[in-house]
Amino acid sequence: MSAGTADGVRVDEVLLAEPRGFCAGVDRAIEIVERALVRFGAPIYVRHEIVHNTFVVNDLKAKGAIFIEDLAEVPPGATLVFSAHGVSKAVRSEAARRGFQVFDATCPLVTKVHVEVAKLSKEGYEFIMIGHKGHPEVEGTMGQLHEGIYLVEDVADVARVQPRGGRLAVVTQTTLSVDDAAEILAAVKQRFPHVREPKKQDICYATQNRQDAVKVLAPAVDVVVVVGSPTSSNSNRLRELAERLGTPAYMVDSAEDLDPAWLDGRRRVGLTAGASAPDILVQQVIARLRELGALSLRKMDGVEESVHFPLPRGLGDRSMAELAAARAAGHAAELDEQDEGDAAASAGATAAGDSAAPAGSARTVDRS
Ligand code: SF4
Repeated sequence: MSAGTADGVRVDEVLLAEPRGFCAGVDRAIEIVERALVRFGAPIYVRHEIVHNTFVVNDLKAKGAIFIEDLAEVPPGATLVFSAHGVSKAVRSEAARRGFQVFDATCPLVTKVHVEVAKLSKEGYEFIMIGHKGHPEVEGTMGQLHEGIYLVEDVADVARVQPRGGRLAVVTQTTLSVDDAAEILAAVKQRFPHVREPKKQDICYATQNRQDAVKVLAPAVDVVVVVGSPTSSNSNRLRELAERLGTPAYMVDSAEDLDPAWLDGRRRVGLTAGASAPDILVQQVIARLRELGALSLRKMDGVEESVHFPLPRGLGDRSMAELAAARAAGHAAELDEQDEGDAAASAGATAAGDSAAPAGSARTVDRS
């Protein structure tokens, strides 16, 4: 039995979803900014929040990152990082035109979708994109083409979309609800029976695995707490999924957001975290739950993830100490020359639609 608290909350057990928290794309994106800061010094400009998490963004701001939405805010000659969500071709071109040194932190699994769109477009395809309007990943993917890509957010949108009538393919945002996307895709296939589907679904391994874990977690607890920022698509989907399964669910950006009233009369608390939420926040929420009387903590069984994406050359092929030493020793000019080539090669690979290196280097995860 729990110790309980003065306000009557009695949490007995905390069940931790597995997997939860950071994915390989988020890990890589944050490391790119951190390494750029060590290598080139502050400020490093980042287009859009590098990942959708308040703690991560504030931490990088404190280290010297400046987050912008409009490239006009970036001074000439600056180093610019594209966020994990990816960018449109127009943004990529503008960055090149303004002469920034660019490092691309677009998740390789988003780049894979961009590459598919570019390749099939050359073969005459138009596209239906399943995703959320206004999300930067959707803007980036739709912005791979000037025309011929139509957004559907729900089943009702499918009836409204008016492609020209030629070859049609479907792509999706990587962080959708797996179940919602399947329902919308079924409606697309019903209206357009010959639509081309991706060989492997666009919803990424991390989104799938975290949703699968909530499907196990939610029925086993009285309430689910999701650590994630309000802007995080995949975190929102985890909360919605738990509620759909009949378990009340709440999102917290930090431990301070945890309202004891949510736990009233609920003795088993399920805890998970979106792909952009760092483990330190999960640990702080656990500490808060212990203050509220939680006696035991149990980790659920789940898929073990081992996906890793390589860093761009010029940042990933030296240790942090070597990057710092190179800068301190005043070798910036020499390394700049080399890195410019690397950054251009990295940006060029995406622009040219060749993501074979990053996507192919990901080790796949068994979701069974
Ligand atoms: S959630 Fe998926 S697509 Fe997004 S950064 Fe992580 S691995 Fe990449």
